[in-house]
Amino acid sequence: MNESLRCPYCRSELPRQSLEVASCLRCSTRHHKHCVAAHGACTILGCEARVVLLGGKRFNLDELAGQLDLGAIPFRVHDGLPEQEPRFLRVEDAIDDSGKGGRARVELVLKQSSVKRGQRVRGSVIVNTPKALIVQRAGLSLETRVETQLASTHSRRATRRKTKVIQREVVFAGQRRGNAGARLVDGVYKMLGKASDRLMTIPAGRREYPFSFHIDLAFAASVHHSHGGEEDHVETELTARVVIPFGQDLTDRQALTIL
Ligand SMILES: [Zn+2]
Ligand SMILES: [Zn+2]
Repeated sequence: MNESLRCPYCRSELPRQSLEVASCLRCSTRHHKHCVAAHGACTILGCEARVVLLGGKRFNLDELAGQLDLGAIPFRVHDGLPEQEPRFLRVEDAIDDSGKGGRARVELVLKQSSVKRGQRVRGSVIVNTPKALIVQRAGLSLETRVETQLASTHSRRATRRKTKVIQREVVFAGQRRGNAGARLVDGVYKMLGKASDRLMTIPAGRREYPFSFHIDLAFAASVHHSHGGEEDHVETELTARVVIPFGQDLTDRQALTIL
């Protein structure tokens, strides 16, 4: 069993360097230091201790969160192999422009529409709002789908099969879905605005949140090919989403070609 080699928060492998790994003072569970700091407590149900050991020293998690570069936010694994990248989204300071926006909307802008494996994807999530916007969370998700289309020999109808092979989600502000224990992180609050309990406010105007993440060499390359009535596609898409309580989410999507 190599269960203990995975971080229970992001499910990706734990590195050997002990300075990246924090162990819970109460139950000894190991997490990436960024993951346990982002979560704010040990993720083990019933433990939820807020003190960890890192490099032989005790750290209160608030203290640790303050020291870490919380611009690195872990991606959650929903589908696919945990060790597949991306693991961390790096978010830079938001760029504010108080100019009046039109209707509230979110825009996902990528610096490049294709990226070579082993390189970083860079882009921005831009939120435009004419007045202060109360939101639950803002995040980015990445999905890779395999689509095959087989021409049937018996009829002209083609059989289409779509499978999600990789799904990653990162919430860079606000609460994670389905986890009441999740906590807002101070460093992350600042990026989107002030937080009050579970909701937060994005100020009026245009805010740009620059981000980047790494695409591993093992990541699935984009494929588009057809032969003899058969078609194969492997497609990766990014979605930026701002969740509005009792309202319609603001979303924008961009296709990303992986070379
Ligand atoms: Zn982790
Ligand atoms: Zn614990």
